[in-house]
Amino acid sequence: MQRLSNKLRISICPQKTEGFSDKHVKFYTKYASVTFKTLNQPLFQRFLDWMMQRENIEKHRITNVQVRIFPFRSENGNGLAGKFNGKGKIAIYPKRLEFCRRLVQDFEKETVYFFIKARAMATLIHELLHVKYLHDEDKVRRLTRKYFSIFINRQGAQNTNTRHVINRIFTQ
Ligand SMILES: [Zn+2]
Repeated sequence: MQRLSNKLRISICPQKTEGFSDKHVKFYTKYASVTFKTLNQPLFQRFLDWMMQRENIEKHRITNVQVRIFPFRSENGNGLAGKFNGKGKIAIYPKRLEFCRRLVQDFEKETVYFFIKARAMATLIHELLHVKYLHDEDKVRRLTRKYFSIFINRQGAQNTNTRHVINRIFTQ
């Protein structure tokens, strides 16, 4: 059986480190390693297997899943959580350091960690669904929320704080 985790990589574009301070590089490197570990978790991988089977998403259509070190920045300055290029490549991007700093002011550190992990998982679910529903953004969003809730409920990790964080992820 093909394993999705074998296709998971941390990917760095060397030219992109220019313009980032040491503090940023350190933060984004740590962020990427948390993201990688989260997405690689056997429990989550098994959940993705189940979801992909249920949705008839064939694994061979995904060639690799890249955890990018630095945030995506479009020309209009908007961030992006992830991207499926239509040809088998999925990229997962971090939130900006400045955004995470603001989160730390509002929440405890543990909750911020939960936010980062939950966002990474929701992003991968979202991009995998795009493999099947290429341009149907509404459907992909609806299904992402559905499948993510199923996963979180199975973990029994729901409390007021996590619900708050999850709402923040899906309303951005
Ligand atoms: Zn989308």
